[in-house]
Amino acid sequence: MTENKTALVISAHAADFVWRCGGAIALHAAKGYAVTVVCLSFGERGESAKLWKEPGMTLDRVKDARRAESEKAAQALGVHDLIELDLGDYPLHLEREDKFRLVEVIRKVQPSFMLSHSRFDPYNTDHMYATQVALECRMIAQAWGHEPGQKVLGAPQLYLFEPHQTEQMGWKPDTFLDITPVWDRKRAAIECMAGQEHLWDYYTRVAENRANHFMRNSGGQSGGRKAKYAEGFQSIFPRTVDEL
Ligand SMILES: [Zn+2]
Repeated sequence: MTENKTALVISAHAADFVWRCGGAIALHAAKGYAVTVVCLSFGERGESAKLWKEPGMTLDRVKDARRAESEKAAQALGVHDLIELDLGDYPLHLEREDKFRLVEVIRKVQPSFMLSHSRFDPYNTDHMYATQVALECRMIAQAWGHEPGQKVLGAPQLYLFEPHQTEQMGWKPDTFLDITPVWDRKRAAIECMAGQEHLWDYYTRVAENRANHFMRNSGGQSGGRKAKYAEGFQSIFPRTVDEL
């Protein structure tokens, strides 16, 4: 029996998954994982400044533009399923029923691992709220008493992807992923974000710097091989191993 490999990204806004874990998505998609991305909102109010500067802009037009961009980016990365929950941003808020919808997605996907934001982000509280929601819904999905009869969730790792202004967020990576083989796909997805062109080269430099950290640490673990582009992650839960 072949077990389906799956992963789940929980992104506060429509573009976050591209900058922060686009490489991880493309790499795992290439390895045969079905990667589901949930965008809790489009970032229509808080992360769409360029669109709002156009005359006659409306909330619906901004959402449509953000939806189109994120769909294009998801396609470039090989995302299996992009789910836009459209819950509103600035502030992002989930009612109990919204959380249960997310739990339903988590149980359906049964992810091998999950990805979300840093635990602290004083510049963008939607981001840390999304992580809180991810942890809460992961917990509910594990509960035998929630919708008894459904398949409960195991204990997938939750990796926190790299925030903007890393040090301000109290984020410290413990995992570096070599994304060199899929860098072209991440860059293509980044370039779908027409409204944030000022970030394209910034996130290319971040990936190059993280590749240097991958190399500095890869001697004992990854054969000391070189990497040109990498992403960093902070894991929440301990790793269980058979050998050290
Ligand atoms: Zn965001």
